[in-house]
Amino acid sequence: MGKRALYNRLYSIGQLLSMEACTGCAVCGEVCPAVNAAGDGHLSGLYRLDWRRRAGKTGAGWLRRLYGRRHPDRQEWKDFAETVYRCTLCGNCTEVCPAGIGLKDLWLSLRQELVELGAHPAKVDLIREHLAHNRNVFGEDQEERTEWVEDLDEPPDDLFVKEQAEVVYFTGCVASFFPLAQQIPMALAEVLEAAEVDFTLLGEEEWCCGFPLLGSGNLPAAHELMEHNLVAVRAKGAREVVFACPSCYMMWREHYPESGLKLSHATQFLGRLLGQDRLPLREQKLTVTYHDPCDLGRAARIFEAPRRVIRALPGVELKELADNRENCLCCGGGGNLEMIDQELNAEIARRKVEQVLTTGAQAVVSGCQQCLRTMATHARRNKLPLKVMDVAQLVRESLDN
Ligand code: SF4
Ligand code: SF4
Repeated sequence: MGKRALYNRLYSIGQLLSMEACTGCAVCGEVCPAVNAAGDGHLSGLYRLDWRRRAGKTGAGWLRRLYGRRHPDRQEWKDFAETVYRCTLCGNCTEVCPAGIGLKDLWLSLRQELVELGAHPAKVDLIREHLAHNRNVFGEDQEERTEWVEDLDEPPDDLFVKEQAEVVYFTGCVASFFPLAQQIPMALAEVLEAAEVDFTLLGEEEWCCGFPLLGSGNLPAAHELMEHNLVAVRAKGAREVVFACPSCYMMWREHYPESGLKLSHATQFLGRLLGQDRLPLREQKLTVTYHDPCDLGRAARIFEAPRRVIRALPGVELKELADNRENCLCCGGGGNLEMIDQELNAEIARRKVEQVLTTGAQAVVSGCQQCLRTMATHARRNKLPLKVMDVAQLVRESLDN
């Protein structure tokens, strides 16, 4: 397939037109965590858009005569890819673009194009390989997906994997396998038990939701995973799926086929339980700030549900960050950036935690295992006096039992 045909298939007409609407104002770069942390304008939306627009305008005879342009060669595409994958897909550029350009969606299409051209960073292929062989993003043994249940004080005999249940708790790869993040499902499962929710895990039948494939430019490879997960949830007879991971939640909400299932982020579900007085609470004196995860806040527009949960907890005081809700600074954990550039990922996290510390809060609370990992890793490495926790953990600590 020629490059031009690929260009037209991967980008919608709306996207192609929107690229032309860029005024060159550079606001997208001003708010970009990658640009600011790296001090490199080549990582900005403006640079990327401009480069891709120029590449799209090459080839035709009159354009070449007019602009003297030629197709970028393979090495130029590869160099360009290095900038495209140094992006957390935080969506802040989309949020501020005065021309209303859906930049984040463009970055996803661009990554898909780079994969199809074979110009993507080789590391990205690891994701596809792990998922093809092991069905989880880390390439771990699927049998270990529910190992965290055994770390609970009183693990149930069925390890929370029932034949049938009203609610499926879709745990996600990071929270299932990564020790630091396993605190989230441990806390959430205990809270669901305390509220006597009829829930189940999918156990080994939970496969990666497919989001890492979307983010790396391999969306077509995610279809098998999506179909499997839908069948697995339906086999439980469930009517609702709960996610503590905003990326799993968004993947199901935006990319899975319509299922008729109710899809809820854990903060929404916890809010309902609190509203129904199903959780016995005790007072704990704690000042917290809340970090809006990019996929829960800017992407899913869920800003108030987590705040309502925090405010409902006796003794917990919420202090807002200077940049909050749709303007929240990214923690650096998205877009598979950690895999591509750990130094940049760490610098974005450092800047995030720096703002968190200015609030004077004892803890930063989030609603995402990746934000927890990123911020907690920075706080630990630098021995900072800051607790990093998920909303589910905060609720667990407020349980009166
Ligand atoms: S999505 Fe975030 S990291 Fe990527 S270019 Fe936009 S602002 Fe920068
Ligand atoms: S903010 Fe929008 S209009 Fe301004 S440079 Fe970036 S993409 Fe172009």
